[in-house]
Formats: sequence, C-alpha cells, structure tokens
Amino acid sequence: MGVKGHRTVDDTGNFEHPLYKVLFQIPGLTLAATALDHVLTWGMTNALWTFPMATSCCGIEFMASAASRVDIDRMGTIVRASPRQADVMVVAGTITVKMAPRVKKLWDQMPEPKWCIAMGSCAISGDFYRNLYSVVPGVDTFLPVDVYVPGCPPNPEALMHGFLRLQEKVRAMRQGAKVVGDPNPELLRVTKPSNPRLVDADRTAALDEAQVSSAETATDLEVAPPVSVPLEAVPAPFAASNATELDGVLADFGILPAGKQGPPLVPVERHLELARRLKGLGYRQLVSIVATHWLAGKGRGGNEAGEVEHHEVVYLLRTVGPGTRVATWAVRPLAGQPVPSLSEVYAGADWQEREQFDLLGVVFSGHPDLRRLMMAENYTGHPLRRDFAADTAAAPWR
Ligand code: SF4
Repeated sequence: MGVKGHRTVDDTGNFEHPLYKVLFQIPGLTLAATALDHVLTWGMTNALWTFPMATSCCGIEFMASAASRVDIDRMGTIVRASPRQADVMVVAGTITVKMAPRVKKLWDQMPEPKWCIAMGSCAISGDFYRNLYSVVPGVDTFLPVDVYVPGCPPNPEALMHGFLRLQEKVRAMRQGAKVVGDPNPELLRVTKPSNPRLVDADRTAALDEAQVSSAETATDLEVAPPVSVPLEAVPAPFAASNATELDGVLADFGILPAGKQGPPLVPVERHLELARRLKGLGYRQLVSIVATHWLAGKGRGGNEAGEVEHHEVVYLLRTVGPGTRVATWAVRPLAGQPVPSLSEVYAGADWQEREQFDLLGVVFSGHPDLRRLMMAENYTGHPLRRDFAADTAAAPWR
C-alpha cells in the first residue's frame, strides 16, 4: 500500500480518503450520490455542445444533420461558434498542413472534458488527398479522436450514429471505465492505403509499370478529328477582336503574335511596360497569373530558356463590360531570375504573384509583400515544382 500525502492508494488502484470514511457513515448518502451521478451523467451525455470544424463537403452533411429530418438538436448537440462553450469538436472535411496548428489551437481552447469526432474519410485519413503536399493524413496525427464516422461523405444519420457511440463512451467514462483503447496492430495493417504510396517499401518497379500501362490502355481511345469553327461562329465576347490591339503592341516590341505553341513570349524586362500599355488600351482586369516550372531540356522550345531550368509565367487580361476582349502573354525567367511585379499596375496581382511564389518559387521583384500564401509559414520548398518529391514530409503533420 502506497501513501501520497493524506491520500491512500492500495495495490488494486482503489482510491481512499479519510473524508470518504466519514461520508460513507452518513445514512443514505451513497444512495443520493449515486442518484446525483446518474443525473450528471444524463446531463453530460445529452448536452454535447458541438464546435464545428467544417472545412469542405462533409461540412454540408454536418449542416444537414441540424435540419428537420435528422434534427440532431434533439440529442442536445447544440452547435456553438465558440470553442470555449463546446464539448465536442466535429472535424468535417480536409485539414491542410497550414490549417492544422489553428485547429489544434481551437481544440486547446475547449474546456475539459472534451471529445473529438472525425467525420468523413478526409478527417480520418486524408482520403484521396492523403499523399498531397498540403494535406494532413488524418486528424488523429495531432488530435485525440474519440469516434470515427466513415464515409465520403457520411450522411447525417451516420453522424448521429457517431454521437450515439460518443454518448456510450461518455457514460463509460463516468463509470470509471478505460475509454481510450490500445492501438490494434491488425487494424493498423488494414488501414494502410490499398494503393501503395511512393514512399512505401513494398512499392516495386513492376507496380509502377502496371500502373503506367493500365493508364495508357485507358487513354488509348479513338480521337475524333478536331472541329474547325469559322470565326464568325464564335460568340462575340470571345471573338479574336483583340488580335489587332495586342498584336499591334507586340509588333512595337518586335515580338511575334501568339502561335500554336502558346501565348507570345515577352522578354522579362519588357513585360511590365506591356502590361501598362494594355491597361491603357482598356484591359483593366487581371484574370490570372499561372506559372509552370520546367527542368533543363523540358518545356516548349523557342528560345534559350527551353534548354535550361526555367519558369514559364502566363498572364491573362480582359477588358471589362460588353464585348469583352482578352490578351495573354508569357515570360520565361531562368531559375532565380526575378520577374517585375505587376502589383503596381493591377492590385489583384499581389495575391496571385504570392501564390506563384509560394507553390513554384517564382520571384517577383518590386512586390510589396512577397511571402507564402497557401502553405504553412515554416513549409520548406515549393510543392508544384517538378523537382518536388511527392509525399515530402511537412513536419510535424506529415
Ligand atoms: S470525405 Fe469526401 S465528402 Fe468529406 S470532405 Fe473529404 S472528399 Fe469531401
């Protein structure tokens, strides 16, 4: 028998206290305490206030569970918008590496005792995004999950079933039962993705070959000849009425108009001037900035950049109002070569350039705040570059 201060714990783990000995002698007290415990347990299991951590499609099913058909409120599962008033966090949707620390912070703000339901395959395992550079492969990598509700998405009835299982768990906990199970090695084995990941030791060259050949067979279809549409049949807003405008500006720059190889290539040092000219011609909306990364010897030919590692950044502008016209061009910075930022001409370039910097490592000179946009602040590398290895670890979430 061990002694800790005035508390006593015997070898069987039972807890004793001098005060208990006095209380147990009061007639009817144990009966009253048992009844009170039942009331408290009933109250706790039927007032599982919920904090919704709904991020994607599963969130819609979560919302539907509060609607009239399932009406999850009748179990006392009121949805609260504050973690401080919630007992249960329902993670409904995909959680990204950038989001995970925020989810954890919200979890930490919930008072004890608290529980977590992982709703849907994305929350449970990352689902088909599991190997993606940005997705957490299951929220139980950073949260203690009590109930898993499988499905893609699970319907509201399945979520209600999950709450019933959670109620059982809460009741068991109130009765002093051990509610956190030991990991089942058999389960760990079968929950491994059936499609081996690139990093899995049992992935063989034969499997690579089988997958490539099955993909080739699947795409070995008869392709219909391209349909030629006469220009007059193209709807007015998309007619090539901008051709003369853009081509005129490009001719001033000594650049060939767009060909079959893609948008016209503009020297990096002149593209800011081109954007200014086009804005003056009415192209007031920057629709998109999209970059691609090419390793040496890859990408489309046409200039020396095709021979060495480079990015190709494609810009798309449009006029605003009836008879919309579009203009597009590309620049090809070599690895590490900065591209002048368009943020002083188009305010919308700010975020779009940050995205291309974050995901592909394109550097924009003159940008007012060039830092990561989508990935976590401490993420290493640029995940959409060709040399980024699939399933790269992003500690501590992957
Ligand atoms: S499990 Fe399916 S339905 Fe749910 S968030 Fe993921 S993809 Fe969407």
